[in-house]
Amino acid sequence: MPRKPVLQLSAVERHYGQGEMTLSILNGANFELRSGEIVALVAPSGTGKSTLLHMAGLLEHPDAGEVTINGRACNGLSDDERTAIRRTDIGFVYQFHHLLPEFTALENIMMPQLIAGLSKAEAAERATQLLDYMRIGHRGEHRPAELSGGEQQRVAIARAVANAPRVLLADEPTGNLDPTTASYVFDALEALVRQSGLAALIATHNHDLAQRMDRRITLDAGKVVEM
Ligand code: ADP
Ligand code: MG
Repeated sequence: MPRKPVLQLSAVERHYGQGEMTLSILNGANFELRSGEIVALVAPSGTGKSTLLHMAGLLEHPDAGEVTINGRACNGLSDDERTAIRRTDIGFVYQFHHLLPEFTALENIMMPQLIAGLSKAEAAERATQLLDYMRIGHRGEHRPAELSGGEQQRVAIARAVANAPRVLLADEPTGNLDPTTASYVFDALEALVRQSGLAALIATHNHDLAQRMDRRITLDAGKVVEM
């Protein structure tokens, strides 16, 4: 049975003005992501990968077109409604981990859950479980500075999925890591997606990782093209 689309971009446009010139970064981009699948977004620097992820993650508004998350069209929504969807349905991971330095790994993963209203005990239990899934269960009491780059990114991924979103968007999450570490981080991410039925769209320059994903897409003249 075909799985439900959790993210849809329909005829999305994004143009940036540069003096007299207009740069059309997204120009009628169409894309669908279904639960349980991991899709690689592979395209050269400057072609609009981050722009597409920001649209998909409701961090920016498209100039035209529609972004639908879990069946809900998001363009016409208020900022508060978009923020609520971002909190419940979307997890975002960046190239740099953006963990809070003064808190432990466990606390960093608990934070979004506490903001969502869970009790400390519930948040700690889920955070512990996520650290185990990411195979860093023994690192929970360490602060980010005491963790390796690969461990930091695994904590960042765990934090992104702490509130059980439908969609995980990752912008070159292993871009700062050596190939072996990148592969370990991807192993953990893949296991997490497979066991949770999450969907993931991952921008990467790493062709080995891209080959391990279910599908690959690229950007060509502002449109999404299957590779
Ligand atoms: P990628 O992630 O694939 O490297 P980006 O989505 O970051 O690409 O950027 C795509 C293009 O859009 C780049 O040429 C970039 O300079 C331009 N761009 C991105 N954000 C802005 C902005 N806020 N204003 C003007 N140009 C921008
Ligand atoms: Mg980018």
